[in-house]
Amino acid sequence: MFSISRKLRRENKTVGFVPTMGALHEGHFSLVREARASNDIVIVSIFVNPAQFNDERDLEKYPRDLTADAARLAEFDVDYVYAPEHDEIYPNGFSTYVYVEDLGETLEGAARPGHFRGVATVVTILLNTVRPACAYFGQKDAQQVAIVKRLTRDLGFETEIVVLPTIREESGLAMSSRNALLSDDDRQKAAVILHALRDAKVAFKKGERNALRLVEIVQQAIATEPAARIDYISVVDRETLQPIEKVGDNETLIVVAAFFGDVRLIDNIILNRKQ
Ligand code: AMP
Repeated sequence: MFSISRKLRRENKTVGFVPTMGALHEGHFSLVREARASNDIVIVSIFVNPAQFNDERDLEKYPRDLTADAARLAEFDVDYVYAPEHDEIYPNGFSTYVYVEDLGETLEGAARPGHFRGVATVVTILLNTVRPACAYFGQKDAQQVAIVKRLTRDLGFETEIVVLPTIREESGLAMSSRNALLSDDDRQKAAVILHALRDAKVAFKKGERNALRLVEIVQQAIATEPAARIDYISVVDRETLQPIEKVGDNETLIVVAAFFGDVRLIDNIILNRKQ
């Protein structure tokens, strides 16, 4: 990968990069399509990054199908699929980690200790290897977006971070590789998460600015579905991820994590979205 990216730089090719953990779905493909439309060369990485799993069982059961993924990516005219072995990313004796203070500790970081240290570290290694002009990320992982933007700014990466909207199943459930782990029944029921977020957005549009009240609206709507077990619901600033009491003019997220069975799902919507 190093020598390919060096060659591409010498040839002045713009590289669009889509980092993934595989088990690809339309959410990933939307990033690939955008990368294809805006760059000479498209590189997609597939690496299930152990450093971002705090639960061994979660890592083991994470869906993997490299052959099917590579076949799908060929349809999208991807130039390179970068699927490194564990030791290429983490050589023997690996001991250097990237840690984004504050942003990595709340929400998903609180629920999954060490998760964002793993994310920030692997993103740093991948960006440093591929050296893309643009890297594409999904808004579905809103905290990951805030962290990747902060780390690329702080560490002086030239790569532009492009963030694209959440792609959803017909029911409204945010697409995720983890959805394959849901029972058919729960997969339908999990659409309640988006419905709840939409209720809050409607209330916001009608003038509700009190974050606690918005949280309550989401909570009550999700509670109508007995199969759901809420992990957290929070109203936070989109960039700093700090909790907000009263929604002002800044871009603001309502973020949700909820369990259906033992599958943990996350979703969010943006209030005050700036174009
Ligand atoms: P993952 O393979 O889950 O690590 O995701 C790889 C990239 O795809 C990340 O930038 C995710 O935010 C993005 N992604 C995952 N699901 C979706 C979705 N439903 N819509 C848009 N982007 C997504």
